[in-house]
Amino acid sequence: VRQGVSTGYEGTMDGKRRILIVGGGTAGWLTAAYLAKSLEIFDNRRLEITLLESPDIGIIGVGEGTFPTIRTTLKFLGIDESRFIRAASATFKQGIRFVDWVRTPENGEHEHFFHPFEAPFQIEGANLVPYWLLQDEKARRPFAEAMTIQNRVAEAKRGPKRPDEGDFSGPLNYAYHFDAARLADVLAERARQLGVVHLQGLVGQVELDATGAIDHVVSLEHGRLEADLYIDCTGFRAELIGRALGVPFKSVRPILFTDRALTCKIPYDRPDTPIESYTIATAHEAGWTWDIGLNGARGIGCVYSSDHIGDDRAAEILHDYIGPRDHEIKTRRIAFEAGYRERQWVKNCVAVGLSGGFLEPLESTGVLLIEAAIGMIAEMFPHYGPVDAPARRFNELIAARYDNIVTFLKLHYCLSRRSEPFWRENADPASMPERLTELLEQWRHRPPGRFDFTLDLESFAFFNYQYILYGMGFKTDLSPGRADFPNTGAAEKTFARIRHFGERATLDLPAHRALIEQINGVG
Ligand code: FAD
Repeated sequence: VRQGVSTGYEGTMDGKRRILIVGGGTAGWLTAAYLAKSLEIFDNRRLEITLLESPDIGIIGVGEGTFPTIRTTLKFLGIDESRFIRAASATFKQGIRFVDWVRTPENGEHEHFFHPFEAPFQIEGANLVPYWLLQDEKARRPFAEAMTIQNRVAEAKRGPKRPDEGDFSGPLNYAYHFDAARLADVLAERARQLGVVHLQGLVGQVELDATGAIDHVVSLEHGRLEADLYIDCTGFRAELIGRALGVPFKSVRPILFTDRALTCKIPYDRPDTPIESYTIATAHEAGWTWDIGLNGARGIGCVYSSDHIGDDRAAEILHDYIGPRDHEIKTRRIAFEAGYRERQWVKNCVAVGLSGGFLEPLESTGVLLIEAAIGMIAEMFPHYGPVDAPARRFNELIAARYDNIVTFLKLHYCLSRRSEPFWRENADPASMPERLTELLEQWRHRPPGRFDFTLDLESFAFFNYQYILYGMGFKTDLSPGRADFPNTGAAEKTFARIRHFGERATLDLPAHRALIEQINGVG
């Protein structure tokens, strides 16, 4: 960042490229650390990264679930796994357990299914899915349990790895649950070590030049600040991309109805209560409730549609979920609108994090989208020439990624057979993306496959779709082509092996709580 004459957005006169990140939440600090590392700013004296954040505004501090990509990111940043787990009160996440999503619970009966991070087991490339689909529906095991050992391991309250396994690796795929406020601190420390300059202050004004690009920003504390590229990480406020540049926001609320969350943290009942290594997502009459086992407390949030229930009813649902407590629960209400900006890189400004968009917390895609954006910025970064050169391609890719996540999230809602208005409206074809309707039609006759998706644009693979579809009882009828799948004997043997491996793994792997306590040096 520099003060003085305007540099325009075609490069500075001293040949230096300056990046100013505004915002110090997960998006700001992850962007800062990632770009500092990948652009090697310590050694590359032509690059400078400054992060400006307002401690008075603070960060949103929610978002406790992640996706396995976070391991690659943390490893790339050179953050030690155990230190990260201790500093962010983190625990391991092996997937999501969905409760009551298929039908409204009757007589206290709750159904559930699991979406693990492990891909379905494959042996010598043989695909087991058709053989599962052809099994007797009443006798077969649930899809995730038949296909991977992870379901069994997680349900047995075991961790995904042994304590002596190396950082970020283990026999099973995993991510983390963590305390969102603390994660930003861990990332900030690393970003500063990597050479990022940290300023505290409030951006009060954003001045545009004659071309409509950002000329400079003004903060009370630091005056006029100029850069070649401005990265807007100001959260829902979207100070640069939204307020200053006026880039429109595309709401997807007609598809994804939820728009509020009522959150709280509660302590465990007892110090030795097992810590779940999956997010529990329990559907309710107008949305769902997350329940996340952190180290020391459970993070709980009731996500709902304000068109379908009022705030008081949401509070009742949350309190019913938690059950009787002998102390008052402090809750926090957060409003959001599912949607995103179709153009997130405009002239010399690019949005990362909530300023670019947010869909809803289901399947934890917030940090995932930040990782996708910063991976692209780092790779496409224009070291010379116009700083907006990658904008068109970046916008195409990021918009497609948001759009595809909308499709995946909608799948969870539209397959439900729950009877409340929220769920019936969700199953109405009028609320579904056309592509999803088309895919569902095809999947009646064949399971999702890798050619249904373009890898670089997707956050979820075909097997993620399989876990949701078959977890929710979707029917793919392969019976007319039964003869095309003659290796039933071999498939049955593989199913038996998966079962056997799963049983062994529950004995070999440590209890999740014990693993976390060992990493924290407790006991
Ligand atoms: P924020 O955390 O809001 O940070 C904004 C920053 O900008 C702050 O530092 C603020 O001080 C600064 N700022 C703002 N205005 C100015 C200004 N004028 N001048 C200077 N600084 C300014 N994601 C997941 O991955 N998993 C989840 O399970 C998940 N659950 C979620 C649940 C809910 C209810 C919500 C709303 C979000 C959830 N998310 C989740 C998304 C996740 O919280 C965000 O993606 C993540 O925290 C990044 O936020 P951010 O950094 O963009 O914004």
